[in-house]
Amino acid sequence: MGDGQLFLLIFTLIYLTDSVAWFGPRGFLLVSFLGRRFRARRHRVYFAGFKSGFALLNPLPPLGQGYVAALFPFSISHTGISPFGVEQPNPGSPVLPSPKSQGWAWDEIKKISVDNKSLYVNGRVFWKFSSTYSARFWKERLQSIHGAGESDRSALVDKMVRSYLDSRRPRRRLAVFQKAVRSLRFYCIVLFLQVFILLPLVYARYHDSLELLWVCCLIWMTMWFASFMSFALHRRFFPQFKSERWQHLFLSLFLPNHTIRSCDFLGKRLFYDSHPLAVFPILSLDASVEELRGAMARDIHCPAIIALSRDIDKQVVREFREQYFLPAFEKVFPDYIDQAEQSPKLAEDDDDQHYYCPRCHTPYQQSAEGCVDCGGITLERLVRS
Ligand SMILES: [Zn+2]
Repeated sequence: MGDGQLFLLIFTLIYLTDSVAWFGPRGFLLVSFLGRRFRARRHRVYFAGFKSGFALLNPLPPLGQGYVAALFPFSISHTGISPFGVEQPNPGSPVLPSPKSQGWAWDEIKKISVDNKSLYVNGRVFWKFSSTYSARFWKERLQSIHGAGESDRSALVDKMVRSYLDSRRPRRRLAVFQKAVRSLRFYCIVLFLQVFILLPLVYARYHDSLELLWVCCLIWMTMWFASFMSFALHRRFFPQFKSERWQHLFLSLFLPNHTIRSCDFLGKRLFYDSHPLAVFPILSLDASVEELRGAMARDIHCPAIIALSRDIDKQVVREFREQYFLPAFEKVFPDYIDQAEQSPKLAEDDDDQHYYCPRCHTPYQQSAEGCVDCGGITLERLVRS
């Protein structure tokens, strides 16, 4: 293998590691690989220690798009906040906060701050996000509720939950984004073709010659166009994230693998303030939206059991679920109870399974221990038709 081929191979491997989306345990990647057929994906690979994992994007930039949206991270009510969430991705074990985080009543809270991707309350870690965007979004929400008077908190929490589930804002943002990103996508495609087709062809024909230098100059010019275009788009959509913008510009001016993924870099961050069910229906209209809605409705109907030791956590989690989250969810998706009560589908040869978990629908032979995946949730007897 010659030097040129080895270089191309290494570069391709580096490029492929950029063709993924990283997100937290409550995240969903809404991804299309060809045209406008979107799928909701959880992690393909998950690192429990980092509380983060990734799923694949289409490595060919002209074809696919990817957006990330996440479930409610924790519970908020008029009493306080708790790091235990009511929404747990289904199927799978419940997502627990870091052992040091705890619930707080509003009047105990002195300071809410963010350091990189972590949200701190009174100097203690409250929640670790997978992006600085989410961390800062939730910090601002919590600060505005904290700063409000006791009588106004209830209305603010209610408004916040509804706006997180609402499709109107992501719909407007997506329309503007898709229009604005069109010329950037064009430059990314041109760059992709230059790097992976033109450069190897010219190298194979002329090797280290003046022609190769010209192609490298051409590639670098395209990188400049794309970098400044994505810098401008970033400033338009995320004006408050200045340091990340400069970092992205610097990387895209020198690393073509980074530049080619510019559209995904912007797209992955676009819906940091929206629920997957608010975003997914505006991207896709097929049955997979109903499937996701059914799975989430089932999870909300039969939540995973989490052992809570502190009274404040018990109270806030209960209040958030009963007074804010369920009413908002029912209002946005009125038919959710019907979907929640669908019976599980079992294969014909599952005759020895007599119980099932109402949350994840896993069949079981015995009911003694409850479902292992859902924190020991009580199993229900299977009624065969
Ligand atoms: Zn289960």
